[in-house]
Amino acid sequence: MQPFSYLRVDRVEDAITAIQVPRSRFIAGGTNLVDLMKGGVEQPVLLVDITHLPLASVTELPDGGVRVGALARNSDLANHPLIRTRYPLLSQAFLAGASPQLRNMASVGGNLMQRTRCGYFTDAAFPACNKRAPGTGCGALLGYNRTHAIFGASDQCVATHPSDMCVALAALDATVTVQSARGERQIALTDFHRLPGATPQRDTALAPDELIVGVYLPPAKPGTRSHYLKVRDRASYAFALVSVATVVRLSGDRVDDARIVLGGVAHKPWRVIAAERALVGRSLDPVSIDAAARVAIEGARPLKDNRYKVELARQSVARALRVAGGVA
Ligand code: SF4
Repeated sequence: MQPFSYLRVDRVEDAITAIQVPRSRFIAGGTNLVDLMKGGVEQPVLLVDITHLPLASVTELPDGGVRVGALARNSDLANHPLIRTRYPLLSQAFLAGASPQLRNMASVGGNLMQRTRCGYFTDAAFPACNKRAPGTGCGALLGYNRTHAIFGASDQCVATHPSDMCVALAALDATVTVQSARGERQIALTDFHRLPGATPQRDTALAPDELIVGVYLPPAKPGTRSHYLKVRDRASYAFALVSVATVVRLSGDRVDDARIVLGGVAHKPWRVIAAERALVGRSLDPVSIDAAARVAIEGARPLKDNRYKVELARQSVARALRVAGGVA
């Protein structure tokens, strides 16, 4: 590991000032960043420890929504009464992620900033990775790409985003609140993570001097049902091959509104609006569900080792919708 300086801050303003130092990083739980530093993938000159900032609360808002502080721990949120009762989808996603030990350390902000687990990226000895070293090529494009993207990739990078939480937050229409010396701004969760394009080194829309201070969850609407499904190589402590967050709101037997977001298939949580539209106005039954699931995989571009993900995604969407809607 490269030598680095360490600074603990107790105020948001001090954190924002400290991060102005080039090649500095915020650190909270450290469950991803420290691993990447040990491997030489991340080499910050300054770590700004934000664990003592007052950003860990969960607050019910007058509009019925909930604000979650960026430093709230994943395990605390998974078991928080407001989250369990109003946003069970999010609680399910937290409990599907990582291990209990990691969830006890991992923060919401850190979860948002997780980097890909592409093996060519995490192995700093491997020369070709545009995300780690721009301009060096993409080892995964023609290499081993079983776990890589089937949607939204570029010839510069075919990595996937690893988070479960973010897939659920996208389906819940969450927004991220960030703060800098310029003030505060909101970023829709679906706009927070980027597709790789020609600049895969940039994972998110966050500017280098911005601090994530919280996440806003809109009010949960009556009649809403949801389910988070994660398919992985082993039953726990594994990243998603494919995951699906579904939210459907029923009015009588008709679908009033729907959200379908896939994880493990793209560089960001992959919302399939066309599949959502295929459901709205119809009854939630095996026929409409299968039709929506077929629409969800339209446009998939698998690589040589991950063709299985296309059918896996189709079946996962169908199953998640069935479970959410209680359809046999
Ligand atoms: Fe690097 Fe992205 Fe290619 Fe993986 S997929 S080797 S992260 S450029």
